Amino acid sequence: MLKVKNLNVGYDNVPVIFDVSFEVKEKELVSIVGSNGAGKTTILKTISGLLKPFSGEIEFMGKRIDRMPAHEIVKLGIAHVPEGRRVFGKLSVLDNLLLGAYTIPDSNLVKKTLNEVYEIFPRLKERENQKAETLSGGEQQMLAIARSLMSRPKILLVDEMSLGLMPLLVDKVLEILKEISRAGMTILLVEQKVQEALEMADRGYILQTGRIVAEGTGRELLESEMVKKAYMGM
Ligand code: ATP
Repeated sequence: MLKVKNLNVGYDNVPVIFDVSFEVKEKELVSIVGSNGAGKTTILKTISGLLKPFSGEIEFMGKRIDRMPAHEIVKLGIAHVPEGRRVFGKLSVLDNLLLGAYTIPDSNLVKKTLNEVYEIFPRLKERENQKAETLSGGEQQMLAIARSLMSRPKILLVDEMSLGLMPLLVDKVLEILKEISRAGMTILLVEQKVQEALEMADRGYILQTGRIVAEGTGRELLESEMVKKAYMGM
């Protein structure tokens, strides 16, 4: 569904990502894991068109997207949940969700989607009239995911969901992502929480200073010496 081939990208001509290739198949949950500054956010921003590659190709459902503007890419069904749960604090939960559906002209479909999203996140329904800034960190993260789902995407790009959340909430948010994945959504997740992200993934990639150094099923990677040594202190 999503294919990234020999991607090189960076900032102001300074490369950050070197020859990265990976793919996400339909209905898969794929995790790209790596430490701070490895380049995870940079890869997601390039897929959503916020950064232009120096070289390489990005294909989505058979179409080249690496030269397309970001608003066209959204319309193809690629939704990006950015790092740091950027919700609109002064707006209500409901208005935040409705903004997520701005690409859908059919108001009945928007209503239907809202009900589906509320089924996944009953907490948000209870708080639909509350200002988003008054939600807890975990609830804001859920709102950020829910808002992305409102555009009825074909793939969800999720950036560092665990950032700044208490461990208990991290588990909760990851559990919800797993549920969304089980329901058939294709998900590309980037995470520093290597163990959690590989445990839940169908497949994963290890990113170190801009290069993919290992790939495999989540299980294979978790059991590899490299991951145990580098990320789990074994
Ligand atoms: P983190 O987990 O800390 O968010 P990451 O793996 O997502 O890390 P990126 O944010 O993609 O990493 O950053 C990769 C590299 O690119 C870092 O060295 C960072 O300093 C650099 N970088 C990121 N954004 C910019 C920018 N706007 N201008 C210049 N360099 C940047």
